[in-house]
Amino acid sequence: MTWDVVVVGGGPAGMMAAGRAAEMGARVLLLEKNKSLGKKLLITGGGRCNVTNAEPDLKKLLDRFRYEKNFLFSPFSKWDNTDTLKFFNARDMKTKIENEQRVFPASDSAQSVWDVMKSFIDQGKVTVKYDAPVSEILASEGNIQGVTLKDKAVILAKKVIIATGGKSRPETGSTGDAFGWLAKIGHTIKEPNVSLVPVAIEDAWVKELQGKSLEKVKITTIQNDQKQKSAIGKILFTHFGVTGPTVLNMSRDISELLKYGPVDIHLDLFPGIDLGTLNKQLTELFRNESNKKIKNVLDQWIPSGVVPTILEKASVSPDTPCHSITRDERIGIIDTTKALSMRVRGLLGTDKAIVTSGGVELAEMDTSTMSSKLYPNLYVVGDMLNIDRPSGGFGLQLCWTTGFVAGTSAAKDL
Ligand SMILES: Cc1cc2nc3c(=O)[nH]c(=O)nc-3n(C[C@H](O)[C@H](O)[C@H](O)COP(=O)(O)OP(=O)(O)OC[C@H]3O[C@@H](n4cnc5c(N)ncnc54)[C@H](O)[C@@H]3O)c2cc1C
Repeated sequence: MTWDVVVVGGGPAGMMAAGRAAEMGARVLLLEKNKSLGKKLLITGGGRCNVTNAEPDLKKLLDRFRYEKNFLFSPFSKWDNTDTLKFFNARDMKTKIENEQRVFPASDSAQSVWDVMKSFIDQGKVTVKYDAPVSEILASEGNIQGVTLKDKAVILAKKVIIATGGKSRPETGSTGDAFGWLAKIGHTIKEPNVSLVPVAIEDAWVKELQGKSLEKVKITTIQNDQKQKSAIGKILFTHFGVTGPTVLNMSRDISELLKYGPVDIHLDLFPGIDLGTLNKQLTELFRNESNKKIKNVLDQWIPSGVVPTILEKASVSPDTPCHSITRDERIGIIDTTKALSMRVRGLLGTDKAIVTSGGVELAEMDTSTMSSKLYPNLYVVGDMLNIDRPSGGFGLQLCWTTGFVAGTSAAKDL
């Protein structure tokens, strides 16, 4: 038997592509090597799933995909973030918008997103074959005939959609299998590299803060005493270093800087507040609490978790009563809060990355259909594509868009 459409990989992009092709009337087979679909989808957004980004201006939305944005106007004109919201809302999944336009299911559970996608493919009567690792694409003379499974079974198809994901979090099934197959049949694969990944830090004080976070700090990368990039956002401290959306988004630039030498990160705990204002605030605090020890007072001004670190870095004894703090000590404390420094040890590996950069070069894809320019009946979607994207729901939006466009195109002209 020859299937109309075979989709390889049952993550978000593969589920969208399979469900859409079936909705268009195609007989669809979805091949998944795990015993269940969407394992990675279930851990997205810390289990809450940041399902898309609600940025209303399409141009601004696409700007976030940096170098590849020009390739994306065409697919996003067919399915953008408003279509994603309509799709989930129409299937009884209420959504809410949080900071930086991040959209989450109102249930705060990635399971809600998974449930919608599963019922979408069930409705279209997509046949799902689990425990079915694909090992090769069958191609000849600019045409794809189907795929071969690891057990050597051959599956024939008129159209094949590859949705096997990148290389991040391999325990979920994303082991980058398809990059090798596509390279073998002539596609150029940009070497996958970690893109959104937590940052390991050398300084012991950072580890002591593990489990704590700071909201709205300015995070600046420094190399050779020169400021490189800054962003304001939340930073989370862990046993290995720092993470959080803002850090993840800076990780790719940090990895570039590390090629040229050591990198430091400076935290400004009071972005936008000048030194004079901070001096007034602290002088008043010390006057009001003059007989108390500074270690018991400073948490009225900065988060309690960082008080010992700030005092140590400013060389002020924690037991000093506020009335004995000298002007120089006060200025030293303020300066430390404006540039709390740490040394980057490196980036964590692929296993901890949110997405990997690299993948199939978009110049070899017709992005109006998501088909290969080398094999018109081959489609590539989701994390397989070499598209740089920040944290904030952009990765999944790319899966919904490319999955929808590939599913629609593959189901045409059968
Ligand atoms: C911890 C974490 C949190 C994240 N949070 C978010 C978030 O909140 N918002 C967001 O937008 N993005 C988030 N992402 C990114 C997002 O998860 C990915 O962009 C998305 O899952 C990519 O989907 P995909 O369908 O392309 O691939 P995947 O989700 O990687 O799915 C690929 C599927 O293909 C299967 N497969 C692989 N090889 C084979 C083979 N040889 N044969 C058969 N099947 C195969 C795999 O088992 C898997 O089921 C997060 C990622 C991680 C790791």
